[in-house]
Amino acid sequence: MNLAPLSSDFFGYENQLSDREKAALAALRHYLETEVKPVVNEHWAAASFPHEIVKGLAAHDVYRYGWEETRPFENSAVFRGFVALELARIDASVATLVGVQNGLAMGSIHVCGSAEQRAEWLPKLAAGELVGAFGLTEPLSGSDSAQGLNTTATRDGDEWVINGEKRWIGNATFSDITIIWAKDTADNQVKGFIVPTSTPGYVATKIENKQSLRIVQNADIVLTDVRVPESLRLAHANSFKDTAKVLRLTRAEVAWAAVGNSIGAYEAALAYTKQRIQFGKPIAGHQLVQDLLVKSIGNITASLGMVIRVSQMLDEGTQRDEHSALAKGFTTSRMRETVAWCREALGGNGIVLEYDVARHFADAEALYSYEGTREMNTLIVGRALTGLAAFV
Ligand SMILES: Cc1cc2nc3c(=O)[nH]c(=O)nc-3n(C[C@H](O)[C@H](O)[C@H](O)COP(=O)(O)OP(=O)(O)OC[C@H]3O[C@@H](n4cnc5c(N)ncnc54)[C@H](O)[C@@H]3O)c2cc1C
Repeated sequence: MNLAPLSSDFFGYENQLSDREKAALAALRHYLETEVKPVVNEHWAAASFPHEIVKGLAAHDVYRYGWEETRPFENSAVFRGFVALELARIDASVATLVGVQNGLAMGSIHVCGSAEQRAEWLPKLAAGELVGAFGLTEPLSGSDSAQGLNTTATRDGDEWVINGEKRWIGNATFSDITIIWAKDTADNQVKGFIVPTSTPGYVATKIENKQSLRIVQNADIVLTDVRVPESLRLAHANSFKDTAKVLRLTRAEVAWAAVGNSIGAYEAALAYTKQRIQFGKPIAGHQLVQDLLVKSIGNITASLGMVIRVSQMLDEGTQRDEHSALAKGFTTSRMRETVAWCREALGGNGIVLEYDVARHFADAEALYSYEGTREMNTLIVGRALTGLAAFV
């Protein structure tokens, strides 16, 4: 299958991909456009999750890319970014499902797990046989999770006893395992645990009434004397610095998803403005409507350049926390402008779900805030620029 150029890829950035990467992306695009796009508005309205896509996406290898244990072919970080973009171009909730499964859950096991843990869990998660979630945020600790976690883990012989609460955990209403980050009561350091959700004492409850990413099933989790064996403690997660290694990777992918969400809104706005007639001609022929479209493609094109470079730096081994933080904070800010301009271009229909832009507009808010708010990412970059930490 050939990858037809997207009109929204104004500078032809996709040409950097290898032929094999382009073919994989083309097949994924076809699946998303034909099987996923037709159902997303209905699920968004109902705040329900299309469970069939977990396996459908697995068939397109989306949970396999990135990790050498599971990837079907050698691929670049730029390619993985384009996968995130392609998912979010259709729907940001679908991109979030994959970001949590492939990035946060599998990433934790890949980065912090032992060889045995990687061999046991990654293939099943890659195949979509198991669904993973990532439990870091708590009701009383969001931006300050590096220091403010209240969930505790206490060693008891060959087991750990975990107590606490988590909030906002994506996929967690139906996940098979959740990576739980908790403070070891012995040394006060953050450790990670692979917690099977069937473990007694683990209760996840869906968060209702979200007005952004309504398809993502986020949960509040209560952990009461949850016991897991030492074999499920992530072997190389010894402090929050190890958690941060996972977040550095996933933040860059959220930056890509922000570009994809912007492109979804832009493409819908471009198509609409070419067929909507006012004052006797398509509104796309009015100068001020073109201004909205041109500002949007400018944001998209600049953001794409930034995320491509940050992914190249990952491949080169030079990407640091402040690089992915800048990309996440910058592209999600540009996305917020872009989806607002695209919504404006549709007039009243810009707030109706059927025209797609409203969903991209609303979903932008969650992307802007999760995996580090703009303020947190600004503080990470500010510390790198000045050598002075301004978090507290
Ligand atoms: C849809 C969705 C999905 C999510 N999925 C997951 C998930 O799967 N797993 C998970 O662990 N978490 C998840 N999260 C949680 C997400 O990472 C947090 O919402 C985010 O880190 C912000 O934390 P908070 O909501 O508690 O906001 P707060 O930390 O309370 O922040 C509120 C505001 O105060 C600002 N602020 C806080 N401290 C400072 C400071 N020092 N200086 C300046 N400004 C400051 C923030 O930037 C923000 O604007 C998800 C969230 C959402 C909305």
